Amino acid sequence: MTKVTIRNLTKIYGQAIKAVDSISLEIPSGEFVSLLGPSGCGKTTTLKMLAGFESVTSGSIAFDGDDVVAVPPEGRDIGMVFQNYALFPHMTVRGNLAFGLEMRKVPKAEMQRRIDATLDLVQLGPYADRYPRQLSGGQQQRVAIGRALVIEPRILLLDEPLANLDAKLREEMRVFIRDLQRRVGITTVYVTHDQAEAMTMSDRVVVMFGGKIAQQAPPSDIYDYPVSREVAGFVGQVNFIDGFVASVDGDLACIETPFGPAEVPAKTRGRGSAVTLALRPEAIDIVPDTAGHGIPATVVSSYFSGAILDYTLAMADGTKVDVKTIARTRFEPGAQVRLSVDAHRFWPIEAA
Ligand code: ATP
Repeated sequence: MTKVTIRNLTKIYGQAIKAVDSISLEIPSGEFVSLLGPSGCGKTTTLKMLAGFESVTSGSIAFDGDDVVAVPPEGRDIGMVFQNYALFPHMTVRGNLAFGLEMRKVPKAEMQRRIDATLDLVQLGPYADRYPRQLSGGQQQRVAIGRALVIEPRILLLDEPLANLDAKLREEMRVFIRDLQRRVGITTVYVTHDQAEAMTMSDRVVVMFGGKIAQQAPPSDIYDYPVSREVAGFVGQVNFIDGFVASVDGDLACIETPFGPAEVPAKTRGRGSAVTLALRPEAIDIVPDTAGHGIPATVVSSYFSGAILDYTLAMADGTKVDVKTIARTRFEPGAQVRLSVDAHRFWPIEAA
């Protein structure tokens, strides 16, 4: 198991394209970390620098304390999985798994043992003699994962490995990969622009924008306590609510909002100052107008997506809010309803 330490890592392509801008990151051994961000934010470039496929402009990368920046890819002991599988089409599944071991001159008996164990691990035993073209996309990706793991690398790097699969298979593969990673216990860096993927699989999510790390934290912290509008918006739907500080009591600030009072951690500002709060759509409850409590609102639209109803509502002043509820009672567009929010469900995006 290997700890990865990245310090002030920067990549500038040509004269001016700063793809990665002085990022620092420590990945404890055995951890599953996702690099999450929109296209062009520098995720893949970071991964390529870890693998040694891309040179480093400045900064350092260390595996268990040893700087690897000058070490070529083959000396880094990395297993890599790509979006397009990159299997050898003229080799069977077994042949694909054997390749890396032959290159490393692993003795025959040991090679057979590792291949059989890996076939078991990726659940492809019955497919060992098939060629990649005779496999489904999900099976091909499992071969690619097996090929990365069979060499028993120190670190597993995956670049959008599920992007080519359909939605259902993608969900199954999330669980499969996470489960496999736990069993093997290998330090893993996973690149994705899919927030649901990053959230469900990772011990820690590193959100990147414009080559920089915006936030790194466990998935639930990223979702519940985002550091900025950008992060809040990237990891799920969110309403931004304007309020002002009504009172500060020690570490807590009470904020006056159109939804009633919000209680949030007090940061730097005093009474009367304006604050922006993040409020997730599922933190808002809709009750019938007849309930007699809550803030009046009108249903603008409601969309049914299986378990969930997605609403847009208009408040009395015309402000729109998004609300998600479990699909039980459905309010139709035009319906008058009331909204209520627990004071603790708000989170300050700008200082309270
Ligand atoms: P995607 O999800 O689209 O792959 P990404 O977050 O992985 O995006 P990178 O591929 O790391 O982003 O690219 C970061 C920036 O560096 C982008 O602006 C990209 O255009 C630029 N870039 C990447 N590779 C090169 C290259 N070989 N030469 C010049 N610029 C590059």
